[in-house]
Amino acid sequence: MTDSRYAVAGSSQSLTPKQRDLIALAESLGPAFASRAARYDSEASFPFENYADLKAAGLLGLCVPQAYGGHGADFGTYALVSATLGKYCGATALTLNMHMCSTLWPGLLADDLDMTPAERKQHEQYRAIHFRRVVQDGAIYAQPFSEGSAAAAGKAPFGTVAAKVGGGWLVNGRKIFASLSGAADYYGVLCTEDKLERSMRDTLYIAVPGTAPGLAVTGEWDPLGMRGTVSRNLVFKDVFVPDEAQMMPRGVYYQAASRWPHMFTTLSPTYMGIAIAAVEFTVKYLRGEVEGMPPVKRRMYPTKQIAMAEMWVKLEQTRALFLRMLEDARIDPPKDARLRAYAAQYTIMENANALCALAIRTCGGQSMLKSLPLERLYRDSRCGALMLPWTAELCLDRIGREALYEPGEADD
Ligand SMILES: Cc1cc2nc3c(=O)[nH]c(=O)nc-3n(C[C@H](O)[C@H](O)[C@H](O)COP(=O)(O)OP(=O)(O)OC[C@H]3O[C@@H](n4cnc5c(N)ncnc54)[C@H](O)[C@@H]3O)c2cc1C
Repeated sequence: MTDSRYAVAGSSQSLTPKQRDLIALAESLGPAFASRAARYDSEASFPFENYADLKAAGLLGLCVPQAYGGHGADFGTYALVSATLGKYCGATALTLNMHMCSTLWPGLLADDLDMTPAERKQHEQYRAIHFRRVVQDGAIYAQPFSEGSAAAAGKAPFGTVAAKVGGGWLVNGRKIFASLSGAADYYGVLCTEDKLERSMRDTLYIAVPGTAPGLAVTGEWDPLGMRGTVSRNLVFKDVFVPDEAQMMPRGVYYQAASRWPHMFTTLSPTYMGIAIAAVEFTVKYLRGEVEGMPPVKRRMYPTKQIAMAEMWVKLEQTRALFLRMLEDARIDPPKDARLRAYAAQYTIMENANALCALAIRTCGGQSMLKSLPLERLYRDSRCGALMLPWTAELCLDRIGREALYEPGEADD
């Protein structure tokens, strides 16, 4: 890590000038984010100050297409910026992912998908409203899809429903683990069109204002890690939203989920950033350079050097898959790229936690004191493998099945 600014990419060599500029912008916010991270963690409070900084830096519109006043960052550029922020505050990077997907999916990703001319025209009108809110007003979007059922794993229709009524939709249902709860200006809700025979093809993606009558934030939030995400429950009771609240036309989310699988890997950059932070911390610690600690060096012990080497190898393996995944991401990726996306997500989520565990073991007892960031990185990193729809378990499940069966194949 000769130039730690570009640690997410290994070095700056392969980056475009735009990527370098955006990473540098994210880096400029990093130290302030790092200085606030312990407070958000201990209070389990939302990082409002960080979002004010992101807004002032123009980063809320990172993935809004340039035609709508944003930076027009593509999937790979977003991931590099996200991982950069993840080095400093995991909860901020993770919640920002929900916001960014709310602009990336209806934006560049939707441009790749099939729509009728009428759908495309309507989508342009509707998304212009969402993008204007983000770019001009600094609106923040959350992305609640989890319900505590098989829906978030992509195995059943969402239980939250939207019924078509004159001029809009009536939303009813419940979401769990809604990051940015109480902080978001809009909740981009994944739900099912309310009709007799519901299927996953009827999934709708609808923005509900945080102030909408009938919407309530409920439940406690006192988790192990990622405490600053404030991921409480949302209850929707006859919440009316106008037609233009639709963030994608009917059926297009289902098409995206089938044809643009990398859309579900966007949580992993946060954890790539955490993994890098754990390794960087360990280097500093063993060199006796951690601020606020006595300058005691521990690097001369062969056991520390071996542990460092193990960590370095694991980090390189993880980052190599991460960067390859960014290259692979596109509509209708070939089978090997799809399997690699599962493998990358699995590897990043599992290795981030493994690296944090190794970092604590290597640095020793003082390193897990709450006055230092390592124990928070460790707790935050534990959450990665649990994130649906591509949990570590479900990635293995998909790799095993899709490696052995071609689409449509079955056993007698
Ligand atoms: C910090 C944090 C922030 C979050 N933020 C958000 C958010 O903003 N929006 C959001 O929608 N969700 C969010 N989530 C929720 C997250 O994505 C998961 O939905 C949630 O952790 C699932 O918890 P569960 O116990 O209900 O999972 P369950 O559905 O009970 O699943 C438990 C485990 O079983 C496995 N499993 C589940 N279904 C299947 C299946 N069909 N076949 C085989 N195995 C299966 C999976 O590995 C899963 O981990 C967040 C979670 C955390 C921890």
